[in-house]
Amino acid sequence: RVAVVLFTRDLRIHDNPALAAAARAAERVVPLFVHDPALPAPRFLASALADLQSSLRRLGADLVERRGDPASEAVKVARAVGAEGLGLAEDVSRYAKHRLARLTDACAAERIALRTFPGVTIVPPGSLRPAGGDHYKVFTPYWRAWQAVKLRDVERAPRSLRLPDDLPASWTRDRALSGPAGETAARRQLTSWLRHASDYEEIHDNLAADRTSRLSPYLHYGCLSPRELVSRTESVEPFVRQLCWRDFYHQVLDAFPDLRRKPYRPGATDAWKDDRTAFEAWKAGQTGIPIVDAGMRQLLAEGWMHNRARLITASFLTKHLGVDWRLGADHFYDLLLDGDVANNYGNWQWVAGTGNDTKPYRRFNPIRQAERFDPTGDYVRRYMPELADLPGKAIHQPWLVPGSRGYPAPLTLPEDVGRSTQG
Ligand code: FAD
Repeated sequence: RVAVVLFTRDLRIHDNPALAAAARAAERVVPLFVHDPALPAPRFLASALADLQSSLRRLGADLVERRGDPASEAVKVARAVGAEGLGLAEDVSRYAKHRLARLTDACAAERIALRTFPGVTIVPPGSLRPAGGDHYKVFTPYWRAWQAVKLRDVERAPRSLRLPDDLPASWTRDRALSGPAGETAARRQLTSWLRHASDYEEIHDNLAADRTSRLSPYLHYGCLSPRELVSRTESVEPFVRQLCWRDFYHQVLDAFPDLRRKPYRPGATDAWKDDRTAFEAWKAGQTGIPIVDAGMRQLLAEGWMHNRARLITASFLTKHLGVDWRLGADHFYDLLLDGDVANNYGNWQWVAGTGNDTKPYRRFNPIRQAERFDPTGDYVRRYMPELADLPGKAIHQPWLVPGSRGYPAPLTLPEDVGRSTQG
């Protein structure tokens, strides 16, 4: 018996339900990844695949790679190796659902048994429903219901895997390991972060401390199982709550596939200015508001941004500059290593007031946020060399300190903030 496992956003061997089931049910397993030209292919993905390949080789198998439409390529491989079954993790974006629909048809035509598995989220989207609704629209009731769910057991990594003997050698390839990504790096990062996890609640919002887990890119590509993560962090409730936000937005996207383009909340105001100059300044980290610019420069430099900075920069773009949330969200999505349809567009809509926030009129004052979450100014100093000589929190309002620094005057200022000398 031969089974094909189609890897998508579950690039790991630990707690991978599709892989574990194939290893139990079949004597030979063909792990497959199809490079889909329609999806981005960052270096992070290449290194995650290299790591997956070496883990699979250690188990006695290998990674088969194909390029093209995942549905037709997967069925071609399954047919060629005489597979009876094909398994994959179920995902919620519109793109993933179309892929699954095509795969379902192609498998039916070839009489290949297709099975989907959980693994992308902790609680499968759609499995929790409030009375009278198809999904939860507000986080707190979802969190309560979510905490009461009996979770599936964490799956062990298979002990060994065997490829079919007659698999053509050309189907697998050696690749140069590039950069620290993938499951091995994710597990190492988790182990080291767990040593400090107990003070997550006090410190996670402190921008300069930079003490969140930084696991988001690994979670996005499934190098780490969110289910396993929750089992290893149970005692750190505020962290588990963040993981629940991730599940929350996945069940929102599952129920509302237009999350990327349409306001989620019926009747939400969705009128924006077409201010390209402001948008370009925001993207470049040149708005003249240091905390906003530091966040945007962190994104440019690292492909990642601290959550508090994401909130401040997104709120400034939408609520102060009045620019369309879709523009900001697309920019984040293109640059973030963890760029994720559910989390990115769900959070952007929350900030813009078109989404799941129960206080959609909320507006973060960037200066107050900076003073509270970067009280020493060290986060700004890290990304803004031209302001580094400003002491302490004076760095948050350079326009109050005389002198020219080659830094722009603010595009706009919150109403209750002192205006003075610069620009
Ligand atoms: P930690 O604080 O260590 O949290 C652990 C994990 O919990 C994260 O890795 C993430 O998977 C999940 N998580 C934490 N906060 C949230 C949240 N608010 N919503 C959903 N999941 C959360 N997260 C993404 O993974 N991809 C995105 O594209 C993305 N875009 C965002 C855009 C905006 C405007 C905002 C405000 C937030 C966005 N987030 C996104 C959520 C959050 O900022 C990141 O998940 C977090 O900063 C990642 O860093 P971490 O792994 O160190 O987080």
